[in-house]
Amino acid sequence: MLIFKNISKTYQIGSQEVKALENVNFEIHKGEFTVILGPSGSGKSTALNILGGMDRASSGEFLFDNEVITQLTDEKLSEYRRDIVGFVFQFYNLIPSLTALENIGIAAELTDNLAIAENCLEQVGLLHRRKNFPNQMSGGEMQRVSIARALAKKPKLLLCDEPTGALDSATGLKIMEILRFSAENSEVAVVMVTHNEEFAKLAHRIIRLHDGKVSSIEENKTPAELSEVHL
Ligand code: ATP
Ligand code: MG
Repeated sequence: MLIFKNISKTYQIGSQEVKALENVNFEIHKGEFTVILGPSGSGKSTALNILGGMDRASSGEFLFDNEVITQLTDEKLSEYRRDIVGFVFQFYNLIPSLTALENIGIAAELTDNLAIAENCLEQVGLLHRRKNFPNQMSGGEMQRVSIARALAKKPKLLLCDEPTGALDSATGLKIMEILRFSAENSEVAVVMVTHNEEFAKLAHRIIRLHDGKVSSIEENKTPAELSEVHL
C-alpha cells in the first residue's frame, strides 16, 4: 500500500513560489485502479511525478509498502523508479523503428524471452499486431502496446499521465477497461491522472484535486460497467 501524508510541493521560479500541492493526504492500494481527477493546473502531474520518484516533495511523507520513499537517497530512489514503477505516457513514446513486440521486449529487457513479451501483448488484445511498427497502428493500439510494455516489467505501481488524452471517447474507454483489468488481475496499483469525469467513473477510487488540495476522495467504488466496450 502507498500512503501520501501531508505532501506539499512548492516550485520556485525566480522570486516567485508556486504551491503545486498543499498538505495532500491519500492512500492507494494494490489491485485497485485509482484515478486522480482535477482541472488543468490542479497538481495532478506533480503528484504523479512524486509517486514515481521522478520528483521530490518539499515536505510531508510518502510511504510504499512501509518504506519511506521521501527519505531515500538519490541512488535508492532511482532503484525504486526502476524496480517498482512502470509508466504510461499520453503520446505512447514507442520506438518508431521497432515492432510492437520488439518495443515490449527491448523496454523490459526480455530479448531472450519472446514468450513473455507475446503474453503481455495478448493481455491487451493485440497479439495479431505484434509485427506492426508504431506508424502501422492506431493511437489506441499504440497506447495498448505502451501499457503492455509497462506491464512487462512487472511493476508494483503503474502510473499513467493522461493516457487517454489523445484518443477519442470509445478508444479511451477501452484503455480504461484495460487498466482496470490489469489492476484487478495482478498485484499492481494502477494510478492514472485525467481531467475527464466520464473516464474516472471506471475507477475503484477517485481522488479529486483542486488548486493543489484534495477536495474529495471516493473509495470502494464499484466501477460503472460499460456494456458496449469490448476488447
Ligand atoms: P494539466 O492537466 O494541465 O497537465 P496538472 O494538474 O498536471 O495540469 P501540474 O503540472 O501538476 O498540473 O501543475 C500544478 C501547478 O504547478 C501549476 O500551477 C503549474 O504551473 C506548476 N508547475 C508544475 N510544474 C512546474 C515546474 N517544473 N516549475 C514551476 N512550476 C510548475
Ligand atoms: Mg499534467
